Amino acid sequence: MTQTTSLPFRDEDVRGFGMCIGGPAPVLRPTTTEQIADAFAEVRRRGGSIALRGAGCSYGDAATNGKGHVLDLTSMNRMLDFDPATGVAIVEPGVTVRDLWRRAIGHGFWPKVVSGTMAVSMGGAAAMNIHGKNNFALGSFGECVRSFELLTPRGDLVQCSREQEAELFHAVIGGFGMLGCITRLVIETKRVHSGRLRVWGLVAKDLEHNLQILEDLRGKADYLVSWLDLHGKGAGLGRGLMHRADQMQPGEDPTGLRYLDPMLQDVPPKLFGVVPKGWLWPGMWGAVHLRQVGLVNWLKFQAGFREQRQSPYLQSHGAFHFLLDYVPRWHWMTKPGGLIQFQPFVPHKEGARVLRTLIEKCHQTRFVPYLGVLKRHRPDPFLMTHAVDGYSLAMDFAVPSGKSGREALWRHCRDMAEVVLGAGGRFYYAKDAVLLASSFAQVHGADVVDRFRALKSHLDPDRLLQTDLSRRLGV
Ligand SMILES: Cc1cc2nc3c(=O)[nH]c(=O)nc-3n(C[C@H](O)[C@H](O)[C@H](O)COP(=O)(O)OP(=O)(O)OC[C@H]3O[C@@H](n4cnc5c(N)ncnc54)[C@H](O)[C@@H]3O)c2cc1C
Repeated sequence: MTQTTSLPFRDEDVRGFGMCIGGPAPVLRPTTTEQIADAFAEVRRRGGSIALRGAGCSYGDAATNGKGHVLDLTSMNRMLDFDPATGVAIVEPGVTVRDLWRRAIGHGFWPKVVSGTMAVSMGGAAAMNIHGKNNFALGSFGECVRSFELLTPRGDLVQCSREQEAELFHAVIGGFGMLGCITRLVIETKRVHSGRLRVWGLVAKDLEHNLQILEDLRGKADYLVSWLDLHGKGAGLGRGLMHRADQMQPGEDPTGLRYLDPMLQDVPPKLFGVVPKGWLWPGMWGAVHLRQVGLVNWLKFQAGFREQRQSPYLQSHGAFHFLLDYVPRWHWMTKPGGLIQFQPFVPHKEGARVLRTLIEKCHQTRFVPYLGVLKRHRPDPFLMTHAVDGYSLAMDFAVPSGKSGREALWRHCRDMAEVVLGAGGRFYYAKDAVLLASSFAQVHGADVVDRFRALKSHLDPDRLLQTDLSRRLGV
């Protein structure tokens, strides 16, 4: 038990999802807003800092605090209300995407925006303004938040919506936990008429083909996402397998009504009904450490042709959205160094040139991501937005365990960041570990940064809310 405060903070190892950033910190798991207020008051009195933390799914340092305390909000996880007629939910911040869809689907609703894992909390989803595979169509998570309640570091409870405290509403969403703690949210879900989606696998022979498919299907598909084999070179640079998924219209899939049962959405515990999923990561660890990632990517790309021939096929919402949850602890394959993800957002007009340059730089430095994911985006109205009218390419890098290798990877990512910044691109802080403070103003523009800093000074004059990310960016 840490002795710095009288509240029951306990020392724990607090890391980002990538495991390579973080360390011991005193952690408290409040169950009520009053306990959060007490923690704010006590730590502020002692001149310390607090990082807010949801499910800890941010890859880097967004929810770690090497220099202070951590409030883990996962125990504030009550679903306060769900209206089966409208699909509107009232939730505490620790309610997860999984909790929400499991509650909604039986009534014929599904969250409007979900991430690639269902472990994410509602507070973390709002604070990072997460996006799904339908960002180009339905927008970001913040766009389905009707309102929320914010506890400011000064102890005030503020109701925020598009009509009330509109400036704060648009700054807290995407404001990476800097302005206060979201203690309650009202969230809209959307109607679904089947427990299944109609899915197509489409082989893209190179980067330009991938981008062309995104443009061609943008007004037609409900979801689009492309897995990229970033090991492909020459004519195959940027090749991959695009997935398009469409929702069913009323009456189109009578059998699919059965799949509105949450039990039929959950990812199965065994692969092919035989192999426990927990056994997969050691095999993947072997691929990473025996340098077989290029081969695995090639095999996956070849398998795409078969999937394309068999398309379209029907898949549950859960299986389509939460592919990564099929393999528990998959990120352990990158141990001992861990992983970082680098996800630049690039304007549409610069997409092909910039993304091609980034992939080529990966080949030159031999830091080739083991996973690449391409998505189409649209702008959103939030102050610290990372969205653009264009594309994002999420690149997962295994971090070398030695100091010099790690530094070389960071240099490589910063070098790529320069290319992105030069093209007017942005970055997503849930997936960042490398950006410098100088990039922060460049990404958002001086006016926006000034407005954000002014709000921060007003609501948090003692700079109580800090994370390793906020200190790195000089917020
Ligand atoms: C496997 C995997 C797949 C992913 N796929 C996607 C994807 O498809 N799309 C996408 O957009 N993201 C994706 N992510 C990233 C993830 O959605 C974000 O990092 C999200 O913010 C994580 O939520 P969390 O609850 O874990 O929050 P944390 O990571 O714990 O915290 C995130 C931020 O929210 C702040 N915060 C947390 N709770 C509160 C609160 N109550 N009030 C105010 N601030 C708070 C924290 O201070 C921190 O800055 C993925 C992550 C993983 C691990």
